[in-house]
Amino acid sequence: MSQSEQRRIVQKFGGSSVADAESIKRVARRVLAARDAGNQVVVVISAMGDTTDDLMDLALEITQEPQARELDMLLTTGERQSAALLAMALNDLGAPALSYTGSQAGVITTPQHGNARIIDITPGRIESSLQAGNIVIVAGFQGVAQATKDVTTLGRGASDTTAVALAAALGADVCEIYSDVDGVFTADPRIVPGARQLTKISYDEMLELAACGAKILHLRCVEYARREGVTIHVRSSFSDKPGTLVTGLVNYEEGNVMEDAIISGIAHDRSEAKITVAGVPDRPGVAAAIFDVIAEADINVDMIVQNVSEIATGATDITFTLSMNDGATAMAALHNAKEAIGFAEVRYDDKIGKVSVVGVGMRTHPGVTASFFKALAEADINISMISTSEIRISVVVDAADVDAAVQAAHTAFGLDSDQEAVVYAGTGR
Ligand code: ASP
Ligand code: MG
Repeated sequence: MSQSEQRRIVQKFGGSSVADAESIKRVARRVLAARDAGNQVVVVISAMGDTTDDLMDLALEITQEPQARELDMLLTTGERQSAALLAMALNDLGAPALSYTGSQAGVITTPQHGNARIIDITPGRIESSLQAGNIVIVAGFQGVAQATKDVTTLGRGASDTTAVALAAALGADVCEIYSDVDGVFTADPRIVPGARQLTKISYDEMLELAACGAKILHLRCVEYARREGVTIHVRSSFSDKPGTLVTGLVNYEEGNVMEDAIISGIAHDRSEAKITVAGVPDRPGVAAAIFDVIAEADINVDMIVQNVSEIATGATDITFTLSMNDGATAMAALHNAKEAIGFAEVRYDDKIGKVSVVGVGMRTHPGVTASFFKALAEADINISMISTSEIRISVVVDAADVDAAVQAAHTAFGLDSDQEAVVYAGTGR
């Protein structure tokens, strides 16, 4: 087969697929099979198992405030290890393979350590390595800052994004993302044993699911794929099952496992906290002042609810959710601004969870909200906040009610299957 006829694919393997030497050899055989089937193969690899967490813990044993630049130098070594080991495993099987760091692979980023964004990919070196007949292995989740030339990381879970970005830059036919489940499910199979696997899902629905806590794909990877039109194929590295395609237009009449499903999936998120600012004077500019304090602290908010003011006091409550990691900073900033803004008190609660139902079908089917809330009521679950988009309804509930809420919604929308979903390994991280 001439090189111009060859298909080109990017394969990404997550940490649970390369947790130990045996797993790395298994992945090597899988990569080789793709090469032998006539593909040019670029592999993007995550760090082995929990390596990134372990390196992070190690840094915190040295200092409570590691410099962001040094943390990136440290964390990027996790992916270098697995990339080099996979190259060795492939060479051992007789297949020429070379590993590259993100920087060597031309992943150019912004300078924000720990959360850099890809601004360009210059894949010249990868391209010539492929042309020379190598299997190319790239360390995921990292790049090099254009301005400072320092090594950066792209945020937790971002090897997915490296893979999609390389697929776009190399004009690959598909970006295969391998993890420890068979594909995208209607809910986390660790919570709902009867969750079903989808054969296809649209970028829009996958974006909402990823933004609402589904860990199967990194949010930015889906954004990137939608923008660049990269087809993502989510598969298990532990089985040969067909997986799930994430693409542009999905014809739900044909192809989807559940032809008449209005809802494609239920996502949940336990990583948020809720802050209530109580006794807020009800006059123009006060909400702006509160969220200005939060924005100044560089914190993103998710849902916001403001109550009608009490007639007696003319004061109201504003409640919002944010990442639990930003909780302490936000509380400190609000306490500092209490006198200036003139509210009565501020309360913090991180024993909450968000449950979201997502589906393009809700655009054309009335009553989805009613069915969702009825299912929660029948399970005796109290809703504390609500937000919606065109294709999503999210509620905040007590942390202890999250599993029950996911299961109740899954059943209410007819998504339960009588077959048990398989979870092969890992923690779903
Ligand atoms: N190893 C990194 C993490 O654990 C990146 C990734 O796995 O995608 O977040
Ligand atoms: Mg991941």
